[in-house]
Amino acid sequence: MNTPPSHFYTEANALFSYSRDIRRDLHQNPELGYQEVRTSDIVARELGELGLDVTTGFGGTGVVALLEGRSPGPVVLLRFDMDALPVQEETGATYSSQHPGVMHACGHDGHVAIGLTVARILQAHRAELAGSVKFVFQPAEEGLGGAERMISDGVLRNPEPDFCLAAHLWNEKPLGWLGVTAGPVMAAADFFNIIISGKGGHGGMPETTHDPVLPAAGLINAFQSIVARNVPPMETAVLSVTRIHGGETYNVIPSQVELAGTVRTYNAATRERVLSRMQQQVELICQAMECTGELTVQSLTPAVVNDPWVTEHIQNLCPQILPSAQLDTDYRTTGSEDMAFMMQDRRSCYIFVGSANPVKGLTFSHHHPRFDFDETALTNASAILAATTYTFLQDGSKD
Ligand SMILES: [Zn+2]
Ligand SMILES: [Zn+2]
Repeated sequence: MNTPPSHFYTEANALFSYSRDIRRDLHQNPELGYQEVRTSDIVARELGELGLDVTTGFGGTGVVALLEGRSPGPVVLLRFDMDALPVQEETGATYSSQHPGVMHACGHDGHVAIGLTVARILQAHRAELAGSVKFVFQPAEEGLGGAERMISDGVLRNPEPDFCLAAHLWNEKPLGWLGVTAGPVMAAADFFNIIISGKGGHGGMPETTHDPVLPAAGLINAFQSIVARNVPPMETAVLSVTRIHGGETYNVIPSQVELAGTVRTYNAATRERVLSRMQQQVELICQAMECTGELTVQSLTPAVVNDPWVTEHIQNLCPQILPSAQLDTDYRTTGSEDMAFMMQDRRSCYIFVGSANPVKGLTFSHHHPRFDFDETALTNASAILAATTYTFLQDGSKD
């Protein structure tokens, strides 16, 4: 039996009230990274009721479930993140967060609903599949290392995935827009700290001090030359200083100033170039101003890089699943994603699914207290992931 791609939209649409109800329930009950206890209970319950083989406690609160087709074949990993953010919700929605200071401000409530909807759809097609689907519900995506913890707990083993897919609802673009781009689509993220040490003293007697405020200012300015002068014009990078700490009062020159910030890059060579220029500037500018500087870099995630073959396959499939969709094959963002760790060295694709709706006032960016998305995007994302997975596992050898 052959199910055409368009049918997966019909099936996802028929499950819309299921997707929406799950999403709204999770939205009212958001949980921060590694605290997704209620969320993972719901996930395990829903997947268990479908008859899937469910394992809980992966990477803390993660859930993994295996849907096995009729015969052996490739393994498709589908990943859905579950965590909320420490944000006080201001949407005024009837389904607003019931927990002060915690909000699903990135749309991961929607991702969980999409995952459960895809599981329902594919379970109904189980007899047509050769291979299996590994549903991965991940904790703590928001900078807390959830993907790495799931990997060290063995999420990429037994069985090992051949394909990895994930999608993000995307409020930077309208409902109906789809971003499916080959190559790097999200940036490698590094966090940096710089400690500039000098010699503090009287604010009125600077000649007795080695003022670290001056090299701090010098560095912030010099850093702006790195992207402008050291990164090739066809490449791109971001270097943002986001924190400056130093000094307490008016008349004391501090002995230390700390700078911190983030670097975003899409390829390893550019990343190395930016970080080595920063190191050079920290050393030399501090030295020139009679201070010392120490740079430490924490690598958060590698770049999210989409496999060209998988990406082209999905690009060809999209018009069949959602004929009216606006397909964008050249979209990338400087955001970062720990899905990059699961995708490394695997045939993978990370898809953006437009979810803003200006007519309904749903235009606020991810992480904003008024962030909310058009729930029709749940259906679009579920249809794409279900149809794509189906095509990878479709059992052409039988009936
Ligand atoms: Zn986020
Ligand atoms: Zn997110």
